[in-house]
Amino acid sequence: MITSKLPNVGTTIFTTMSQLATETGALNLSQGFPDFDGPQGLRDAVVRHINAGHNQYAPMIGLPALRQQVAAKVLRQYGASVNADTEVTITPGATEAIFCAVQAVVRAGDEVIVFDPCYDSYEPSVELAGGRCVHVQLDAKDFSIDWQKLTDALGPRTRMIILNSPHNPSGALISAADLDQLAKLIEGRDIYLISDEVYEHLVYDGGRHASVLANEALYSKAFVVSSFGKTYHVTGWKTGYVIAPPALSAELRKVHQYVNFCGVTPLQWALADYMAASPEHVEQLPGFYQAKRDLFCDLLAPSRFSFTRVAGTYFQLVDYSQIRPDLNDVDMALWMTREHGVATIPVSVFYQTPIPEQRLVRLCFAKREETLREAAKKLCVI
Ligand code: PMP
Ligand code: GLN
Repeated sequence: MITSKLPNVGTTIFTTMSQLATETGALNLSQGFPDFDGPQGLRDAVVRHINAGHNQYAPMIGLPALRQQVAAKVLRQYGASVNADTEVTITPGATEAIFCAVQAVVRAGDEVIVFDPCYDSYEPSVELAGGRCVHVQLDAKDFSIDWQKLTDALGPRTRMIILNSPHNPSGALISAADLDQLAKLIEGRDIYLISDEVYEHLVYDGGRHASVLANEALYSKAFVVSSFGKTYHVTGWKTGYVIAPPALSAELRKVHQYVNFCGVTPLQWALADYMAASPEHVEQLPGFYQAKRDLFCDLLAPSRFSFTRVAGTYFQLVDYSQIRPDLNDVDMALWMTREHGVATIPVSVFYQTPIPEQRLVRLCFAKREETLREAAKKLCVI
């Protein structure tokens, strides 16, 4: 019998709930992906590049044209001047970028601080590197960082901290002041950061995403990760990038070249073309998704769910304690899917130690207006 290297890992909640949605015919607001397509011009560009013969391996670190577009974008967005050759690496998805960054830094016995509720890929990546996650709970009400808890969690073995803002599943944002505070806290220590910023362009109500790229002290020790999947509505393309200072990028690339070698070539060409031709796409995204958030929340207002509109991401948490306080959130998610035709994600699965009294499920609003209307109709009669 093989002894598992990941004894605590099963099938992810995203796969489980999407499968259940398919089996039961429920509307799938569980796994985070749009039910509409990416821009026509972007899709046309892929076909064009496939037919132009761009079908062989891309450079290991990514196509120069795409790395240059990424560098230009982060200069525009965050005033961050990064070198497209030595600091930008294109990866097959943000998940691979995170995995490679962890493997590049974490050694046996190292500790990595993660904030709960925490995205599911971080801990297995750390465990495969021989490290151990130290879970620090975010504030239960607003999902902000509890600085005392973070300070208490730091120790001589701490090698890395993984940040995620805008935050999945809560939609909460880390502020520029938070980043300054973190920089002070780890100053002079041999601690690296992964900043998972895959929802960087999904920030609402006039707010600004505080990128680690704009914080010089933190960036000097950071891998900043993003995903074209979220930004261009093409999660199935599994294409992302990581920006890190040259020495860190060099170490990350040593891993990346043996995990995957390179990202998918025609997708990289298409993204490079599209980013050059349509820089306004990212400027329009907050308005585009804010309209969906507001429509969905307005439609849910008469329901028995309670919620505060999210500040970022395309997920809305809703509290169901007025409806079925007797059910834990996993049972609630199953019940909603099977009996009420709406698949959701329970929040407790993002915690090492779930909060027993918490009654929250996550709904993805990256959906067409008719899907949101149909879902809200079902949710309002629960
Ligand atoms: N981090 C977070 C917080 C996510 O929600 C996701 C995506 N679903 C990822 C990373 C992974 O992104 P990708 O699909 O590009 O691997
Ligand atoms: N990040 C997506 C979510 O939170 C899921 C991606 C996946 O299925 N691995 O729903």
